[in-house]
Amino acid sequence: MNILFVSSEIFPYAKTGGLADVSYALPEALRQEGEKVYTIMPLYNDVDRDEHKIIYSGLTFEYWLAGVRHQFDVFYKEDNKDELFVFNPILCNRWGLYHDQFGDYGDNALRFGLFCYSALEVMVRMKLKIDVVHVNDWQTSLIPLLMKTRYNLPQKTVLTIHNLAFQGIFPKKVMNELELDWEKCFKFNGLEYFDNVNFLKAGIFFSDHVTTVSKTYAQEIQTTKFGERLDDTLQINSYKLKGIVNGISTEIFDPKKDKYIEKNFSLETYKKKNENKSLLCKELNFKEEGRPLFIFIGRFTPQKGVDILLEAIDLFKTYEANFVILGSGEDLYNHAFGTLIGAYENIHIKIGYDEAFSRRLYASANFLLMPSIFEPCGLNQMISMKYGVLPIVSKTGGLKDTVIDFTDIDKIEECSLGLGITFDEYNIFWFNHALAKAFALYSNKNKFEKISKHNMGVDNSWKNSAKEYLNLYKS
Ligand code: ADP
Repeated sequence: MNILFVSSEIFPYAKTGGLADVSYALPEALRQEGEKVYTIMPLYNDVDRDEHKIIYSGLTFEYWLAGVRHQFDVFYKEDNKDELFVFNPILCNRWGLYHDQFGDYGDNALRFGLFCYSALEVMVRMKLKIDVVHVNDWQTSLIPLLMKTRYNLPQKTVLTIHNLAFQGIFPKKVMNELELDWEKCFKFNGLEYFDNVNFLKAGIFFSDHVTTVSKTYAQEIQTTKFGERLDDTLQINSYKLKGIVNGISTEIFDPKKDKYIEKNFSLETYKKKNENKSLLCKELNFKEEGRPLFIFIGRFTPQKGVDILLEAIDLFKTYEANFVILGSGEDLYNHAFGTLIGAYENIHIKIGYDEAFSRRLYASANFLLMPSIFEPCGLNQMISMKYGVLPIVSKTGGLKDTVIDFTDIDKIEECSLGLGITFDEYNIFWFNHALAKAFALYSNKNKFEKISKHNMGVDNSWKNSAKEYLNLYKS
C-alpha cells in the first residue's frame, strides 16, 4: 500500500509539539510494516538543509491562484527520496512555523492553503502512485476538500485530529484568495463556520475517515465540554470517527542510547538513572538526599494545566522535594514563570524549548507532572515512562488511556499499561492529594523502584497503532 503522509511539522526537521513526533514515528512504523510511505512538509527557513542532507529534487513548478503566481521548489532527503519538502517563499520564508512574538501570522490561511495545493501538485506531477492520502490537523485539512471539489482525485483520505483546539478559522474572504468553490465548499457540511471558514471542519466533512489520537478523546470531542464548538460536526461524522492511540518512537526515546543524557541506562543498569539525577541536582544546586524530583515539560498554555502549577508553587516551595519546570508559550505564562526564576532553592524554571534538557530531565526525574485540562493523547507521559518516571496525570483523554493509578491495580506485573498517579477533578486540592500520594509511594523505595522499572518495560511503541491505521487504510 502506498501512502502520502502530509504534515506541517515532522521531527527532527521542525517541531513545535507532539504532531512532529507522530509525523516522524507513524510513517517509520508503517515503513517497518513493509508499506511505501511518502512524507511531505514545508521546507521552513528553520529547517537545517545541510545537517539533514536535504537536496533539490529538480522539480520547480508554478501555480496561479486568484491572478497571483506562486512558485514551489521540491526537495527531498538525499538518503531517502520518499521524504519530500516543498519550498515556497510565502509559506517558508520567515522564522517560526505559525506565529511570531505578536501572534499568529496574518496570512496563515494562504500559507497553508498553498501547502495543501502544493502537496497535491507534487503527488500529480511526480506521478506518485498513492492509495491513501493521510493529512494532519487544520494545516492540511483543505487537501480532502480540494481532492473532491477541484482535482477529482480517487485516493482515499484520512484526517487525524491531534488537537481539536486548533482549527484554522479565517474570514471567508480567503475563499477567493484560494479559489475555493463557494457553492461546493461554503456550506454547513463543508468549510462554513459561523460565517467564517474553518479548515478543520472541512477536513472532517470531506475526509473518508477521521481519527483522533486516543479512544477517550474520540468520545470527549463529541461533547460540548471538549468539542470546541465542533461537537455537532463530530457527532454527525461519528460513523467515520475512530480513536487510535499514539505511540512513541522507541528509537528516539531510549535511555540506553539517548545521546543527550550523561549516563545511559536500561533495566539491567537501573542504578545509573540515579546518577543522572545526582548530576542534575548538583548542576541546579538542589539538595538531593532523599528528595524526589518532579518535572514538568510542556507548552505554557491553559490546556497543560499551567494555572494549577502556578498556584501550586506556593506548596512546592515548602516541600522536601525538587521541581524543574521546562516550557514556553503564552506571554502571560512566560512572564509569570519568568518572575519566579531563582526565587526558591528547590524549584528550577527554564523558559524555552530545549530538547537536550528535556531528555536529561526525563532521565533524572522520579515523577512527571501533567495536570492537563484536556489531553488528546499526550506523549510526555509515555516518554517519561520509558525513562522510569511515574506520571501524575489528570484523568482525561489519552492520559486516561495510557496511565493507571498504582492504587487501582492488584498486581503490578499483570498490568500492561504504565503506572502513575491519576486525579479526577481539576483543582489544587486533588492535585495536591496526588502529590501526597507520590510522597507516600516514594518513601517506600522498593515499591517505587518496582513501578519505575515496570514503566520502563511498558510497550508504548507504534507497532499496534500502526497496524490499526493500516486496517483503516485498507477498509
Ligand atoms: P503537545 O500538545 O504540545 O503536542 P505532547 O505531549 O503531545 O504535547 O508532545 C509534546 C512533545 O514536545 C514531547 O516530545 C515533549 O517532550 C516536547 N516538549 C514540549 N515542550 C518542550 C520544551 N519546552 N522543551 C523540550 N521539549 C518539549
